[in-house]
Amino acid sequence: MRRAIYPGSFDPVTNGHLDIIERGCKLFDEIIIGILVNPNKEPFFTVEERHEMLTEVVKNISRGRCTVRVDSFSGLLVKYAVAQQADVIVRGIRAISDYEYEFQMALMNRHLEPSLETVFMMPAEQYTYLSSRLTKEVFNLGGDVTGLVPPAVEQAMRRKQDAGVRG
Ligand code: ADP
Repeated sequence: MRRAIYPGSFDPVTNGHLDIIERGCKLFDEIIIGILVNPNKEPFFTVEERHEMLTEVVKNISRGRCTVRVDSFSGLLVKYAVAQQADVIVRGIRAISDYEYEFQMALMNRHLEPSLETVFMMPAEQYTYLSSRLTKEVFNLGGDVTGLVPPAVEQAMRRKQDAGVRG
């Protein structure tokens, strides 16, 4: 039984994240998507909204016999991973620019908790330029985010924008 944690902000979940989850499902029996609760960041979607969206969209990906669970956590990732009895931390790597930060984090996490391994996975080429941050920027400037995020997320972004305009 191999259990992995896929941690991140997922603000919002993109098709790049889903690609990584689908690939991860070929390697692990269970993937826990851990939404990091970061009180220092002003998010676009609340943790509850992100949780709901992730739960909805992971239903549609092909995942074989792998179980995908959505959860949230705060504090040290390695503590959370140990509490969840996970063996592996999954992270997505897009470009060399991701690598330096991810490498540091992986080694620090190994220093803190040597029993955990970090596995880096590469998404399909079309997602290598995609990030939650860029998606929000494009969306806020009126650009089309179709194909970058699942349709349910695009709709939720529109609802949030409309609520902002009215409020
Ligand atoms: P964080 O704030 O931890 O970077 P994100 O939600 O932005 O949270 O990303 C979570 C994980 O998913 C990270 O490992 C990130 O590198 C990876 N990731 C994000 N977007 C993509 C993508 N388009 N393709 C592959 N991996 C991605």
